[in-house]
Amino acid sequence: MVAQASRLQDVRYDIRGPVLRRARQLEAEGHRILKLNLGNPAPFGLDAPDAVLRDVVQNLGDAQGYSDARGIHSARLAVAQSYERLGVAGVGPDDVYLGNGVSELIAMALQALLNVGDEVLVPSPDYPLWTGVVSLCGGSAVHYRCDEQAGWAPDLDDVGAHISPRTRAMVIINPNNPTGAVYSKETLLGLLDLARRHGLLVLTDEIYDQILYEDAVHYCAAALAPDLVVLTLGGLSKTYRLAGFRSGWLVVSGPRQEASEYLEGLELLANMRLCPNVPAQYAIQTALGGTVDITHLLQPGGRLREQRDFAWQKLTEIPGVECVKPAGSLYVFPRLDPDVYKIVDDERLVIDLLEQQHLMLSHGTGFNLPTPDHVRVVFLAAVTVLDDAIDRLARFLQNYGQ
Ligand code: PLP
Repeated sequence: MVAQASRLQDVRYDIRGPVLRRARQLEAEGHRILKLNLGNPAPFGLDAPDAVLRDVVQNLGDAQGYSDARGIHSARLAVAQSYERLGVAGVGPDDVYLGNGVSELIAMALQALLNVGDEVLVPSPDYPLWTGVVSLCGGSAVHYRCDEQAGWAPDLDDVGAHISPRTRAMVIINPNNPTGAVYSKETLLGLLDLARRHGLLVLTDEIYDQILYEDAVHYCAAALAPDLVVLTLGGLSKTYRLAGFRSGWLVVSGPRQEASEYLEGLELLANMRLCPNVPAQYAIQTALGGTVDITHLLQPGGRLREQRDFAWQKLTEIPGVECVKPAGSLYVFPRLDPDVYKIVDDERLVIDLLEQQHLMLSHGTGFNLPTPDHVRVVFLAAVTVLDDAIDRLARFLQNYGQ
């Protein structure tokens, strides 16, 4: 028998666990599954901008060798300049690390930081890779509450109450997956102030920073705290619809000299993986160069905007379903009223939904929410598809545990 490493025992990533395995079985039996469980734009016909793809093709010949371990200079420069435009002062190409998606950079950033027993503040609910990687590194993810009644804003008192002498870092996910919340300047300043007072490294995942609806404004945390060491993560997967390219970046800002030893560790890890995938790096300069934007998808009449409005509206029409309207990102995170739906195990609920209606959603506890009363719906699909999906959910709920 080949045993699993014991350090995996506490690592959870349930949104891709048993539900996905059951979906694969059903597909193998010949069923068609409607999948609204993954923020992957391409399968829904949301293609990358042509100009970005053309540049990658034109540069393929130059992309055959390893690059600088941090990534090609032109792409790192483009990333640094894009953050300078957002008000992050004094960042240059040497402050940028490119990676095979934000996912790889989350792993590198935490591996370089954590010792066994170190604590990291992570939002609840979160994008669960954050919690999983903290555990994988031997650390403890300490979840702070995001308050649904306050549009899922982090509860600053709760964040403060969870800080201990072992806390090393604070994770911010803004705009948030799964809640779609976009944090106010005051909330961010409050979080940053806690990080300042307790000497915490700030890791801010801003991969949805341009996917905003109506009058939502995104504030880049690093721009609000030039006196703090902040690691900002972003990438091409969502705004530029290039999830398959696996292309992301990490930008270090603030007083880097205070973090020089940590940054040496990060550099070591960057060197150990040789470099990120090189062809995908050639997409970055064009993507960030200013000629590509996604406002046509977000304005009234734009696909994402229409789909968000439709999904939110139709979900809230189901009896016992309430939902904060997402101000950003690609997700709605409705609450199934426990007085109406007696849910004991929300993973079981989404598996039952899958089996009965061939619809795949993600369960809230998979995002480290403590209560089993939410599901996440991806609204990348066209309105007609969402219409069918939400009808299926409504039919399912009619008979569920009432
Ligand atoms: N961070 C958040 C908040 C996400 O939602 C996702 C993907 O859904 C990622 C990171 C992973 O991004 P990437 O495709 O760049 O690895």
